[in-house]
Amino acid sequence: MGDVAAFRMQYRAEHIGPRYSGWLHFATTSVVSLAAIAFAISRVHAPHAWELAMVPVFFIVANLGEYFGHRGPMHHRRRGLALIFERHTLQHHHFYTHDRMAAESPRDFQMVLFPPIMLVFFLGGLATPLGLLVGFLGTPNLGWLFAATAVSYFLSYEWLHWSYHQPESSWVGRLWLVRRLRRHHTIHHDLRRMTTVNFNITFPIADTLFGTSARD
Ligand SMILES: [Zn+2]
Ligand SMILES: [Zn+2]
Repeated sequence: MGDVAAFRMQYRAEHIGPRYSGWLHFATTSVVSLAAIAFAISRVHAPHAWELAMVPVFFIVANLGEYFGHRGPMHHRRRGLALIFERHTLQHHHFYTHDRMAAESPRDFQMVLFPPIMLVFFLGGLATPLGLLVGFLGTPNLGWLFAATAVSYFLSYEWLHWSYHQPESSWVGRLWLVRRLRRHHTIHHDLRRMTTVNFNITFPIADTLFGTSARD
C-alpha cells in the first residue's frame, strides 16, 4: 500500500504536467475516435449482408489483437516497443495495483488513457493501413467496416479500462457491466499474476479461448 502511494507521488511529480487536464484527455480520445467512426460509417454504401456479417469477425480479430498486444509487448520488453512496456508494466501496473485500483483525481487519468500520440498511431498507423488492405483484398465497404469496428473497439477499450480505474462507489464504478469486467482486470493487476492471467481488457474472449482466464 505504502509503495503505491509513494510511486504515485513520484510519478505525478515527474510525468503529469501542471497544465494536464484528465477530462480534456478523456474528451480528446472520445471525440477523435467518434469522429473517425462516424466518417468510416458514412463511407459504407448499400452494404451486402455478407459484408455486414464480417463485423463480428473483425470484432474477434480486435479481441485477439488486444490479447496478444497485452500478453506480448505490453508485458515483455521488445525492441522498438520498449516504450509500451515501460508505460504499461513499469508504470500503469505500479500506479494501480489490485488493492489500489482507483484514480484519486482526474489528473490520474493520465496513467490510464493512452497518450494522444498513441491515438494517432492506432488511427493512422494501424486502423488506416489495415482498413486499406481489407478494402483492397475485399471490397471498399469491407475496408470501411473494418476501420469502423477497429476504432469502436479501441474506444470501448479506453472507456472500459478508464471505468475500472474509477472509484467503485462512483456512478460508472457501480454499473453492472463495469463491476463484472473490473473483477477480471483487478486480478490481472496483481503484480504476481500480471504476466500469466487475464490479458483481455474488454471482454475475456481470447482469455477463455487460450485458458488464461482467472476468476478468483
Ligand atoms: Zn489497468
Ligand atoms: Zn497488464
